[in-house]
Amino acid sequence: MDFSLSPEELQIRDTIRAFVEREIMPLEPEVLRGERAGGPGLDPEVLSDLRLKAKKMGFWGINTPEEYGGAALGPVMSAIIAMEMGRTFVPFSFGGSADNILYAGTEEQKRRYLIPTIEGERRSCFAITEPGAGSDARNIRTRAVKDGGDWVINGEKTFITGGNEADFVMVFAVTDADKGANGGVTCFLADRDMGWKSEPIPTMGQWGPASLVFEDVRVPEENILGELGRGFDLAMQWIGQGRYMIPARAVGSAERMLQMAIDYAKIRMSMGKPIAEYQAIQWMIADSQVEIEAAKWLTLHAAWRVQQGMDARHASSIAKLNGAVMANQVVDRVLQIHGGMGYTKELPIERWYRELRLLRIFEGTDEIQRRTIARNLLRGHARLGTIGE
Ligand SMILES: Cc1cc2nc3c(=O)[nH]c(=O)nc-3n(C[C@H](O)[C@H](O)[C@H](O)COP(=O)(O)OP(=O)(O)OC[C@H]3O[C@@H](n4cnc5c(N)ncnc54)[C@H](O)[C@@H]3O)c2cc1C
Repeated sequence: MDFSLSPEELQIRDTIRAFVEREIMPLEPEVLRGERAGGPGLDPEVLSDLRLKAKKMGFWGINTPEEYGGAALGPVMSAIIAMEMGRTFVPFSFGGSADNILYAGTEEQKRRYLIPTIEGERRSCFAITEPGAGSDARNIRTRAVKDGGDWVINGEKTFITGGNEADFVMVFAVTDADKGANGGVTCFLADRDMGWKSEPIPTMGQWGPASLVFEDVRVPEENILGELGRGFDLAMQWIGQGRYMIPARAVGSAERMLQMAIDYAKIRMSMGKPIAEYQAIQWMIADSQVEIEAAKWLTLHAAWRVQQGMDARHASSIAKLNGAVMANQVVDRVLQIHGGMGYTKELPIERWYRELRLLRIFEGTDEIQRRTIARNLLRGHARLGTIGE
């Protein structure tokens, strides 16, 4: 078993780390100022300049196949890069990628949706959740009914990331109510100018999702993504394949914050000593590092399974549950170590705190991950005592 990175992988990691430290972290005060004034964290031009800079360094389409101009670094390297990117809360992501579900498109769909998304000319969103169906995604009610060469979609989606900015949506609708999620849900590519409307939803975090309303939205037959009736499987496959990216980011965020707590503990004096000398503080630091390390390796294991083409669903659920809980425990301890200062808006801890809370909710709540893990074991889909199988 070899946990080491190749010289090339180490070089990529170090280059990304230097880019984050040199180019992105200095923007953090500006992001806090912008957001606290009620606006976006950064001007879109600043973000696109950064993206261009990254592109010149070769960081473009990290996990995008080479035939689409990407770097195709693979899941393990993508996870390592996400860990580095998670060290900052600046809302920056490398360009040149698209939701992996779009690779299921026909050549024509790839030309109209996938490639422009990779190029940054189009913006997508992924809409399965509804007001009455979140964890219970099998129970969606949005309907699509065939009418001539079109499908007519009616229904409402909620909490859709990027839904207010997207110019097309991958929307999941029931096309056969008797079959439901077992062969009766289809994914459609619906352009905004086909008539769906969006409304932002204010949240405790910075990236507001949106609700989407479909009222007699006509979508041509050729805009079905994947097979008719197979949309639910496609959605689950998409979510399952990228799930390790959530705990990966969480690891980076937690490491950065823990470093802040270590630095602060050494200089904050109480009762004649730096607080770092008190066991209560040391245990918070030690427990945090243990949990971060555990999350790091569970995440890399899940990413490695995806890279090997193995079934990664069980490992990804374990990594996602662990990483989401870990990040919330660590940010809480880091805030505690900073005392009253941790609670203020002078420091960014409260912002991390709000942002990281989402990790326990989206892409499968803690409870749903536990349910999946337990069911896999109870039904024999996963076994105890396995290593690398
Ligand atoms: C900021 C944000 C962005 C999002 N982005 C997207 C997006 O881009 N696209 C998209 O489609 N969705 C998106 N979502 C939706 C997200 O995936 C759902 O919020 C999530 O799946 C939970 O569904 P829910 O909110 O309806 O909660 P519910 O399903 O109503 O759950 C409420 C509570 O009950 C628990 N619960 C539910 N069922 C069970 C059960 N069987 N056993 C035990 N406990 C259970 C849950 O864990 C939770 O604690 C986003 C959500 C947020 C907040």
